[in-house]
Amino acid sequence: MNSYEQLCELHRKASVLASVQALLGWDQETYMPAGGASARSEQAAEMASLVHQRRTSKKLGDLLSACEAAMPDDACEARNIELMRRDYDRLTKLPDDLVSELARVGSKAQEAWKAARTADDFEGFRPWLEQMMSLSRRKAECYGVPDGGELYDALLDEYEPDARSADVQAVFEPLAEQLSTLVAELLDSPTQPSDAPNRTKVDPSAQHAFGQKLLAAMGFDLRTGRLDVTTHPFCEGVAPGDTRLTTRYADDNFMDAMYSTLHEMGHGLYEQGLPKAERQGQPLGDSVSLGIHESQSRLWENFVGRSPEFWHWAAPIAHSTLGEPIKQFSVHQLFGAANRIERSFVRVEADEATYNLHVMLRFELERAMLRGDLSIADLPAAWNERFEQLLGVNVPDNKRGCLQDVHWSFGLIGYFPTYTLGTLYAAQLWETAHSKFPDIDQQIARGEFAPLLGWLREGIHTQGRRWTAGELCERMTGRPLGPEPLMDYLRTKLRPLYGLSHSMA
Ligand SMILES: [Zn+2]
Repeated sequence: MNSYEQLCELHRKASVLASVQALLGWDQETYMPAGGASARSEQAAEMASLVHQRRTSKKLGDLLSACEAAMPDDACEARNIELMRRDYDRLTKLPDDLVSELARVGSKAQEAWKAARTADDFEGFRPWLEQMMSLSRRKAECYGVPDGGELYDALLDEYEPDARSADVQAVFEPLAEQLSTLVAELLDSPTQPSDAPNRTKVDPSAQHAFGQKLLAAMGFDLRTGRLDVTTHPFCEGVAPGDTRLTTRYADDNFMDAMYSTLHEMGHGLYEQGLPKAERQGQPLGDSVSLGIHESQSRLWENFVGRSPEFWHWAAPIAHSTLGEPIKQFSVHQLFGAANRIERSFVRVEADEATYNLHVMLRFELERAMLRGDLSIADLPAAWNERFEQLLGVNVPDNKRGCLQDVHWSFGLIGYFPTYTLGTLYAAQLWETAHSKFPDIDQQIARGEFAPLLGWLREGIHTQGRRWTAGELCERMTGRPLGPEPLMDYLRTKLRPLYGLSHSMA
């Protein structure tokens, strides 16, 4: 084997180990009994340390230098080496003890968070959050402040390479204003779609069958993937040929589970489309960024899944699978319920118009906590105050306030902005898909999802990390990322549903 082949082999082996780590994480979120928490945190710490050692070994560094000394002509190989260097330099900045400590404390903090959220007990979670925040700060300091950025950017970079919080804020601020205006207009309208379909009892086993039918019809390969139940839905691309989706079932809100399933399916379609088998562990076999990942989940969940054409196709399946009570609802009623706007407290249940306001709140607060401008003890009050400014309602308890998300317990600081970036990418992709495939709406109404999926497969999934998120956006849509496609899309769909004219800004 030449140096490049040896380098790829080391990456493949590290990725095999990382897939075991991923499986342990998946198990903790799905089937592990609560009593396994302590042992699992030890397992997680040990695995994190092993994976980190493999990825930062001297041998890997030496092979990388050997490859760089004689860079291959092949553009893919050269790009692989360039990204391997980027990853190696980043990872070697983290001491091994910090990596295992983050995994150990994160695993325990996650259990503490579950208990604190159930009991609405912020004080029970506070010491864990303080620990995770200080470990995260140490991690950011190890990475170092990127050029022209702030400490937060060192963490953001892990999820969205090269993104800067100042740029994110410059996009978020005007967007928050436009979204708040739109939400107020919609909620002031005398015409409001009914939420009756989501107040109708539907057996969870029927909901599961419905989800499985949607997955199969929309292109998710159930031979290389599966759907399980969890409290906080997620997708884990465990290994080549093994993509796990999770959802949760409420017996009086079938759309909650359905849209969680479609969201995670979008992530899963990306994972299944990556060239993982041929390029296991190589950057070119991996996803670009969380923003691009999220663009795929949002696209299928919202842009496709909440369209009138989608419901034209899906309503008969809902009628036949979900049972008698759902049969009374027409396509238009189901479409309306799927697009109801509400000032609600929980991000993962939020509608498309208010969702990004929830994200902006978290972005502001975690940035302030990392800077030390906001103490953890003051988090609940700061959360509630800002929530009221952004969404116009008073948060009743911490369970539906600052304790609702799992992210901070894992130490995922800098992760939230990728949700909104992903939504913006999705809107721009959706707009382009309509100019590329003028009959895409009719295709969706007929349940033909392959043309859209094929376009995403070719341009995004099979490319791995070949292009940066910004390059990919320009290659796919012909221009850099902007907020207009999202606002246009929301106004065009929601204003008529609420009995308002199309166009008013
Ligand atoms: Zn997602």
